[in-house]
Amino acid sequence: MATIQMKGVTKSYGLLDVIHGVDLRIEEGEFVALVGPSGCGKSTMLRMIAGLETISNGQIAFDDEVVNDMTPSERGISMVFQSYALYPHLSVRKNLSFGLENLRMPREEIRTRVAEAARMLELDDYLDRKPKALSGGQRQRVAIGRAIVRQPRVFLFDEPLSNLDAKLRVQTRGEITRLHKQLGTTMIYVTHDPVEAMTMAKKIVVLIGGHIEQVGRPLDLFERPANLFVAGFIGSPRMNIFDATVIGTEGEVLRVRSAETGDMLVPLPGMAPGRAVKIGLRPSHFALGEEAGEGAQSLIVDQVESLGHETYIYGRLNGTGTTTIIHVQNHLEAEPGDTLPAAPRGGHVHLFDASSGLRLGGA
Ligand code: ADP
Ligand code: MG
Repeated sequence: MATIQMKGVTKSYGLLDVIHGVDLRIEEGEFVALVGPSGCGKSTMLRMIAGLETISNGQIAFDDEVVNDMTPSERGISMVFQSYALYPHLSVRKNLSFGLENLRMPREEIRTRVAEAARMLELDDYLDRKPKALSGGQRQRVAIGRAIVRQPRVFLFDEPLSNLDAKLRVQTRGEITRLHKQLGTTMIYVTHDPVEAMTMAKKIVVLIGGHIEQVGRPLDLFERPANLFVAGFIGSPRMNIFDATVIGTEGEVLRVRSAETGDMLVPLPGMAPGRAVKIGLRPSHFALGEEAGEGAQSLIVDQVESLGHETYIYGRLNGTGTTTIIHVQNHLEAEPGDTLPAAPRGGHVHLFDASSGLRLGGA
């Protein structure tokens, strides 16, 4: 187990700056998800931590020891990739033991470690099979087993579930979090899928365009996104964002107005009237139909997706051109072209500065 500390870490490929100066501390035994859209630099970050990629500037330390010039094996990391890369001609047992035999580890120790990993990953019955006789999920478990037997100080996962179908992904997600509880080893888990990050990790690092935009617990990111990038990335379907203007301060609250939502009150003091802001409202934070009550806005329905127990409605509010997504927890009878009353639920408004995109507050 190790703490990992990154200070001012940058990475450029020639003229292309990919990582723009990252400061990050990961505690011993922590399970951290590194999440961001494709191409934002997640694999590059992980490979720099692993020692598979040099860093352009800055410092990476494991347990206060600078590892900048150390190889992956000197750092004591194990990495699991999206492609399992198992040896096709070797049995599962041999795939698990191969790396340890190369290290000239005593046979008895290898046997113990392989047996232990096989038990943890429920691979006991498959040890004599070749990879081609395994399902995709079992193959990925072998790849994880191969990482476990090395007893690393740090586990690094780079989108390990992307090749699995939806059901297996959910199952393997659970297995990896269970594994972390059993082993207690520091783990960094890279994914482009915010749902995977939210369900697996206690701490999430949001990386967008090579910048860390926010570090926090899943609920923090959801309830208090630091800026419009995070607001738009965490949560599915994505948060609705509307251009708005500050009308004025009324005691302890601020009156803001957008064409889509009408006037909204946000518990934020002192802001100049006329200031350009953005209102953020999650799809589940609207009341629709009869529930919307007095003074509701009007939604023109463009598209309806009913899943039986819940409904997603895509439409436009108050004759604007902004596509708005609303999610209700029941079946809602509506057709494209219908007009429905819609009201933002108080207490769930996010407010951002229009030019910097930074969070101003909300409730
Ligand atoms: P992610 O894993 O988040 O999808 P990557 O870390 O793989 O993103 O890539 C980040 C950026 O760096 C991308 O623009 C990618 O094209 C670029 N990149 C990655 N590896 C190299 C390389 N070896 N040479 C040049 N550019 C690279
Ligand atoms: Mg990647």
